[in-house]
Order: sequence, then structure tokens, then C-alpha cells
Amino acid sequence: MEQIQLQYRRTKKYTRLTREIVQAYPKRFSHIDPDDIEAVINTDAIISKLIARVSIVPAKLQPFLGEKILVEIWLCQWEDLNEAAKLLVLRHELEHVKEYEGRVAYDRKYKLQDHDVQEFAPFIEKFGIHWTRRGDLPNILERHIKIKSSRDNQSVLG
Ligand SMILES: [Zn+2]
Repeated sequence: MEQIQLQYRRTKKYTRLTREIVQAYPKRFSHIDPDDIEAVINTDAIISKLIARVSIVPAKLQPFLGEKILVEIWLCQWEDLNEAAKLLVLRHELEHVKEYEGRVAYDRKYKLQDHDVQEFAPFIEKFGIHWTRRGDLPNILERHIKIKSSRDNQSVLG
């Protein structure tokens, strides 16, 4: 029998840290219930340009699974980042999750929004384009960092 290679595995550590980011920035993420967040690691060996991506459990599955926010992390990219950069990436993914409007009809909490955050621009400006590998990035769980809102053109972050 052929062995089935699992592409995803749960990650307790980054589920916890993503939930902690929500709690550390309560104004910004007041619409997000930390318990709704699950982080999973994509272990696909094929090199992806993406570091991380966020999605919401499809509406038809929500009665069974709940309205989970899935943060998908690509292992092949993730290992290159230092811990502070990982937290910035996780917070960036949370920025895509907005409050669902019209929840009277659908009783949903979340919707996804494309990039409208420019939060990486100051880091690129300050630390250069290889900012994710710098050892002197601020840790957003230890120090409160303001999040900028405007257009951005990030291509490596889904
Ligand atoms: Zn993004």
C-alpha cells in the first residue's frame, strides 16, 4: 500500500502565538475571537513563493467545523525567518480578516479582505528588503508596534 504523505499539520505553538497577537492588539482585532484561530503548517516540499496565507472555513462546512480562521504557513519559507519576523507575518495575515457585514442574514463573523495594509513598508525602509532575516526586528508581543493602514503590494504574503 502506498503511503499517504500528509501535507498539513497542526501547530500548537503558532496557533497560540497568533491568538496572543489578537490579545496583544485588542483594539485592532476586537472583531476576532482568538479561539477561532488555527495555524497549520504546509509541509509540501515544493518551494512556494508564499510564506503564509489566511482563509476562513467555507460557509457550507461552518455548521460542522465552526467559523475557523486558518493561518497556513509554508514550512520551506518559514524556517528562514527569525521569531520576530514570524510574528509580523502572522499579524499581517490577521489584518486580512475583517468583520462580516450583513451577519443578520448569514450569522457569520468574518470575511477576508485583500491587501490594504502597508505595515511592511516601514520595515523594508528601515531594515532593507531582507528584513525578515534581520536579528534586530522588534518583537510585537513584547513591544507594541503601530500598524499602518493603506495600500500595499506585498507579493510574498498571501
Ligand atoms: Zn497579505
